[in-house]
Amino acid sequence: MKVGFIGIGQMGGPMSRHLLEAGYDLTVHDLRRDAVKHLLDKGAKWADAPKAIAETCDVVISCLPTPIQVQEVVYGARGLMAGWKTGDIYVDMSTNSPTVIRQVAIDAKPMGVAVLDAPVTGGTRGAREGTLSIMVGGDKIFLEKIREILQAMGKKIFHVGDVGCGNVAKLVNNLISLTNNIINAQAFVLGVKAGIDPQILWEITTSGTANNWNLQQYPQTVFQGNFEPGFRLSLGFKDIGLAIQLGREYGVPLSVGAATEQSLLEAKAAGFEDKSVDGFMLYLEKLVGVEVRSAKK
Ligand code: NAD
Repeated sequence: MKVGFIGIGQMGGPMSRHLLEAGYDLTVHDLRRDAVKHLLDKGAKWADAPKAIAETCDVVISCLPTPIQVQEVVYGARGLMAGWKTGDIYVDMSTNSPTVIRQVAIDAKPMGVAVLDAPVTGGTRGAREGTLSIMVGGDKIFLEKIREILQAMGKKIFHVGDVGCGNVAKLVNNLISLTNNIINAQAFVLGVKAGIDPQILWEITTSGTANNWNLQQYPQTVFQGNFEPGFRLSLGFKDIGLAIQLGREYGVPLSVGAATEQSLLEAKAAGFEDKSVDGFMLYLEKLVGVEVRSAKK
């Protein structure tokens, strides 16, 4: 099976490497030619546009920053639509708008192309280790055709419903996790400003009712002053915006999510958009004049 991969970034880089290591005949494309060098060195082929990937591959995967880039890759002058053939399968693994990927599926259907959305959770570490959780929306028949491809990148594969549902699940996940990010930062800055040692605070919160995934990472991230992405704050801001948009579409109020969006916007406006999502902590630390650091790992 010939597989194409578009978007060789923090996530797409290691995910596509797993496909190569699993023995797939892999063709790659990214706007940044330097991003694919490590794959070409290992035997992947280069395509200069999504169209060329669609023309030569049976399955095309994308892992792109926002819905705008997905639309460019699908509908652009040298996009996938210009090269798709009957029987092709398109798997978008970006965190995308459910509405956008549903429209792509509608537009691809007359060409005989099946569309699945398959966003992931587990971060760059999960991508590197091939342990991502993958949330798939779309016809189960096509999921079964590409299940082995997904298994090369992830450990848990969930079929969550029709196309678009993968992203609904992902946005629900990120609505919770990004909100945790913000409240963790505010609570720790408060605790440290009020005189508590961050390490003790961490041991208390992670062994009690406040425990959550983002907090568990602090010894490797915040405590070390490590705010390099990983998951960029600008992408977190995109995800919370997509979740709130979904709430609007379905008439579900998301007041806490809206506060999270504003907090991320504050940090973004203050110049922290290319830091990790914990960049909000950095922003808040500077605002109130404390640092949440601990030497202990
Ligand atoms: P990234 O910015 O590191 O990578 C995106 C890649 O896409 C870049 O290499 C960029 O050059 C390329 N690209 C952009 N526009 C393009 C186009 N028109 N044609 C071809 N290539 C193009 O982003 P990432 O962190 O890898 O995230 C990718 C997706 O995965 C996002 O939707 C993100 O929300 C999601 N995600 C990220 C993480 C994480 O921890 N980083 C975790 C889960 C999900």
